[in-house]
Amino acid sequence: MATIDSRLLAILDRAREAKAPTKAECICLLELPETSLEAALLRATADATMRQRFGNEAIILGQVGVEIAACPAACKFCSFGEGHTRFAPKVMTTAEILQCADAFTGSRELYSLFLMTMHTFEFGRLLETVRGVRERIPAGTQIVVNIGDFDRAQAAELRAAGVNGAYHVCRLREGIDTKLDPEARKQTIRVIRDSGMDWYYCCEPVGPEHTAEELVEQMFLGIDYGCFQHAAMRRVYVPGSPLADRGQITELRLGQVTAVVALATLACPETRNIAVHEPNLIGLTSGANVVYAEKGANPRDTEEDTNGHRGRDIAACKTMLYEAGFGQLLTAPGRRQSLADAFRCRN
Ligand code: SF4
Repeated sequence: MATIDSRLLAILDRAREAKAPTKAECICLLELPETSLEAALLRATADATMRQRFGNEAIILGQVGVEIAACPAACKFCSFGEGHTRFAPKVMTTAEILQCADAFTGSRELYSLFLMTMHTFEFGRLLETVRGVRERIPAGTQIVVNIGDFDRAQAAELRAAGVNGAYHVCRLREGIDTKLDPEARKQTIRVIRDSGMDWYYCCEPVGPEHTAEELVEQMFLGIDYGCFQHAAMRRVYVPGSPLADRGQITELRLGQVTAVVALATLACPETRNIAVHEPNLIGLTSGANVVYAEKGANPRDTEEDTNGHRGRDIAACKTMLYEAGFGQLLTAPGRRQSLADAFRCRN
């Protein structure tokens, strides 16, 4: 029987001492066959290393997709892209958004509430919505925006309205599989960092055609710019989207990408947690400790409201984290609760 390559063991041993793999080493890790013993060792090492790094603590985030429109970014993998979307435009009312905010935050288990728009959006309305949500939800619960590009002045207004963070990604093949300018995406990322908001990044949307080199270049942007959250997300097969014929990677391969992202962030002291999209147990035992609940519009879904379809609710996310063996939930900066207690009879 073949022995494990000593170079791989050396990379994993160094990771156990909190030393990150180099870019070249990350490429080798991504090139391991996903069903190999070596890939399983990689995932197990990322799992053990991240549990130690984050104290076996997990986080639930909740995203509300507040509108649907034919999006001019025309991302070839997204169900809302202009030119191929099958959705009619729809905007949630303020009352509906507040109702979602209540549903997500009522149990005080949610760390961050995300408000997601299309690439173009009404900035004034977003500010009003943020103010309304901020008044309504628990003080420690974070508000994060997942919106199009914005400038320094807008970042300051978002901060003043109560926004704590922003999800912003320069995607794989940005400008090729999307109509967006990669430099504009990076400029907004700099704005987010300079404004003091937590910056949420992700290696996405990973498909079977992406090379290890492409994945590494894109994921290291999150490390070089100091992301608060790193993550991995696979491209979901959306029937009728221009990239549908390229198919999708397995959750096992996504777990491998998650493991490499997690180990690479050992070089990034700003990174406080690792997410996997969509939530799954392989990712949560490969270095990820964050899952997202979702409501409303979802670019990976073919239903107007993702909840009850692709999107999970808080209870389902909590169960998944418990099953993955996490001990506690971080529910706000400095605020924690036991996960095991939630699954124990209190009579
Ligand atoms: S992924 Fe986002 S930016 Fe791209 S088309 Fe969909 S909604 Fe627009």
